[in-house]
Amino acid sequence: MTTQATALLTPSTGAPFERGSITRRSLNSDDVLIEIAYAGICHSDIHNVRDEWAPGIYPMVPGHEIAGIVTEVGSDVTKFKVGDRAGVGCFVDSCGTCGPCRAGEEQFCEQGAVMTYNSTDYDGDVTYGGYSTHIVVKQDYVLHIPDSLALDSAAPLLCAGITTYSPLRHWNAGPESKVAVIGMGGLGHMAVQYAHAMGSHVTVISQTRAKEEDGKRFGADDYRAMNEEGTLKALRDSFDLIINTVSADIDLNAMLKTLKLDGTLVFVGLPENRQDFTVFSLTAQRRSLAGSNIGGIRETQEMLDFSAEHGITSQVEVIDADQVDEAYERVVNSDVRYRFVIDVATI
Ligand code: NAP
Ligand code: ZN
Repeated sequence: MTTQATALLTPSTGAPFERGSITRRSLNSDDVLIEIAYAGICHSDIHNVRDEWAPGIYPMVPGHEIAGIVTEVGSDVTKFKVGDRAGVGCFVDSCGTCGPCRAGEEQFCEQGAVMTYNSTDYDGDVTYGGYSTHIVVKQDYVLHIPDSLALDSAAPLLCAGITTYSPLRHWNAGPESKVAVIGMGGLGHMAVQYAHAMGSHVTVISQTRAKEEDGKRFGADDYRAMNEEGTLKALRDSFDLIINTVSADIDLNAMLKTLKLDGTLVFVGLPENRQDFTVFSLTAQRRSLAGSNIGGIRETQEMLDFSAEHGITSQVEVIDADQVDEAYERVVNSDVRYRFVIDVATI
């Protein structure tokens, strides 16, 4: 039997959200039905509904930071039972057989992972995300949310958490490393907490000093503001690893020069525009420029367990469905501390 879910949808590019109804498929034997409690607002949702990366599929129901409770399971489901706390992140299927999928890095699936919304699944059906009351997902793409994490502040871990945890692990952040986090929004405030928990020395590079106290509370050892003269010059040759979470253009060339010998700057922020640098900024200190895309299911579960173990969670502002348009404006203006989460019961 299919499920009618109530959803917040946007009918066309940049149009305000409205309530509507969407149909969730009847459960296959390996599917679970989740009643969604909270859905985080990621800056990627905004890029998507504004067609900043590519033309979107409309009507669009965004949301890939999903936390809720399992209310029904298919006949072959072994990993979940009714009543379990469950999370869904940025993708809901992948081919399962290619090299990356077999390595647990489904986000790099050679056939293209099926994204949670604004995508089509392997049957050609459009996917709809977490700004809705229910979702049906294959058990292999659903995460267990540890009991010690509240569902509202755990929801953002499904994207903001894994997107920052994964590159910190991949580039071996640890007690020996000096890590910089550029931009302290949804992703940035998670990056600071994880890098600190991994033992690294952490510097936040923000636009202003407005969030300095929060940064220190999240574990930053140092905090610098771009609106102060000479900030990047003073940081020349400082960092082993930079996680750039900025959603807009940065002075990439100047940022690269803050890396030490063999340091790496990783883009997780996905600005609409091309970014520019001179090759000399790399060659001068054998620096690397890299990118990272969310994380696989195995690592997402590891990140959730690590978060529970270290008491790390997102700092959230829970909002009603009627506040989503306004919240989008506030995110774009860097006026969020540090993630808006929709209380799905208000949809
Ligand atoms: P967010 O909450 O809006 O945070 C972005 C931060 O960037 C802001 O808080 C602000 O930090 C800084 N910033 C914004 N505009 C700026 C500007 N014009 N100049 C300099 N700094 C600016 O967004 P988010 O949800 O963390 O997402 C950040 C980016 O990551 C987005 O582009 C998103 O699409 C992307 N993303 C990528 C992945 C991936 O897998 N690679 C996954 C999720 C999201 P301060 O106020 O501290 O300056
Ligand atoms: Zn996201």
